[in-house]
Amino acid sequence: MTFRVGFGSDVHQLVVGRELWLGGIRIEHVKGALGHSDADVLLHAICDALLGAAGLDDIGHHFPDTDVRWKGADSKVLLAQVVELLKEKGWTVGNVDSTLLLERPKIKPHIPAMRKVIAALLALDIDAVSIKATTSETLGYVGREEGVCAHAVALIQRA
Ligand code: MG
Repeated sequence: MTFRVGFGSDVHQLVVGRELWLGGIRIEHVKGALGHSDADVLLHAICDALLGAAGLDDIGHHFPDTDVRWKGADSKVLLAQVVELLKEKGWTVGNVDSTLLLERPKIKPHIPAMRKVIAALLALDIDAVSIKATTSETLGYVGREEGVCAHAVALIQRA
């Protein structure tokens, strides 16, 4: 068995007038993330962790923001396509660990639903999908609620 690890990181601006999608679910909030797709920063970080582990470039390479196909795209579709790309190379996902950084709203109540969605997309048990959330203690762009950030690591395996 061959194992690889990958790391992914993403940032999106938070603005009034956009929906907030995080970890594949919509969260009620006064601001949403700005982006070409639904701007789901957590799913984007996980996509990049998986692509990175497989040495398959990054999310911007596979789903360019100049391509109208991805305008307003559901990032769950992007993650499902990433899983397919890995599958074509013989990779399956072992586990994912991630951290969301945002000041508001409180993410903890939404984490079980996010884990369920992501586990289904990655064909994993829920305990193989970890999501943590932290604030930035009012510091920086996260602390000023100007943006949201996510980091993720993933392990993939191939027989
Ligand atoms: Mg992104």
